[in-house]
Amino acid sequence: MKKLSPPARILMGPGPSNVSSEVYAALATPIIGHLDPDFLAMMDEIGDMLRAVFQTRNRLTIPMSGTGSSGMETAFVNVVEPGDTVVIGVNGVFGERMCDVASRCGAKTVRVEAPWGDIIEPDAFISALKQNRGAKVAALVHAETSTGARQPLEDVGAHLADSQTLFLVDAVTSLAGCDLRIDEWGIDICYSGTQKCLSVPPGISPVTFSEKAARALENKKSKVQSWYLDLSMICRYWGSERVYHHTAPVSMLFALREGLRVIMEEGLQKRFERHKTLGAELTGRLGALGFKPFAREGYRLPMLASVILPEGMDDAFARRRLLDEHGIEVGPGLGETKGGIWRVGLMGESCKAENIDALSIALADIV
Ligand code: PLP
Repeated sequence: MKKLSPPARILMGPGPSNVSSEVYAALATPIIGHLDPDFLAMMDEIGDMLRAVFQTRNRLTIPMSGTGSSGMETAFVNVVEPGDTVVIGVNGVFGERMCDVASRCGAKTVRVEAPWGDIIEPDAFISALKQNRGAKVAALVHAETSTGARQPLEDVGAHLADSQTLFLVDAVTSLAGCDLRIDEWGIDICYSGTQKCLSVPPGISPVTFSEKAARALENKKSKVQSWYLDLSMICRYWGSERVYHHTAPVSMLFALREGLRVIMEEGLQKRFERHKTLGAELTGRLGALGFKPFAREGYRLPMLASVILPEGMDDAFARRRLLDEHGIEVGPGLGETKGGIWRVGLMGESCKAENIDALSIALADIV
């Protein structure tokens, strides 16, 4: 067996994104024990920085061990019980996945659907909530990575402010790449993933639960069906007791701690601005090469351009040339858009003018 030597890549797909040298250095730092006082102090720092990035004061804000899907499961299994109603917006792969996860918890799922590339109209979603007043959870995907659509959240949050229904949001792709205000927008449960705009390798899923959601967790009648994702136990490790639950992924948490520090150093607003400006630049450049935007105008993600391929372009062949000849990865369409669109990411460390230049030059050669 030869020594490991993966190729250098410019990661411009829907994730993972490139990782900064600071985060790589943190990954290579010698590990310490997960109950070492220095590690425990670092856990507090991670909690504080996650609260800043989520724009929340939620006490229960922690990184789950596992990729974004573990955050999704955490969000549902800790509050949903068999027979509960869960209203879910479905306009792509990840809303669909939420339905699957909720139904595995025994929930009755109410789907509010929109075509791929479109948003869930807040009025339609609110009207479904009015028809299902006792719903335990209302769930939306902020950044639908399969289509490039940015879901507005504020109206739904305001509607649910005085109700018992918990507002659950998937922010796997959006967190740290565009504005997301957990407290101000009335979001009760939110999860993300490290491999997108946080620019840390895949493997950790930050989650945040409001006091209202924490109360729902406490009042849950049945045991959380997943031992590994049961927040009532995990909180005893992340809270003041520091009771062992599972061995924390030390190196990944070092990486997350460093990734968050890099974000704090840049400043959240500046980071959003960078994604917005360069996202618009990318869409313009792709447009000039014959790629048309796929997601609805006015609701396009800054960190992920979904574009319809120019007439006659061979999806797989063109992506293969980009990778082999230029070391650039872009993402294919999923499901019904497979072969018809690309998803071009500009997330975190990958969100650089020089990457847009490299892609434009490469594509001018290929298109
Ligand atoms: N939700 C969204 C919006 C995503 O984009 C993804 C992954 O791309 C996930 C959930 C699942 O995350 P993971 O693949 O890290 O498990």
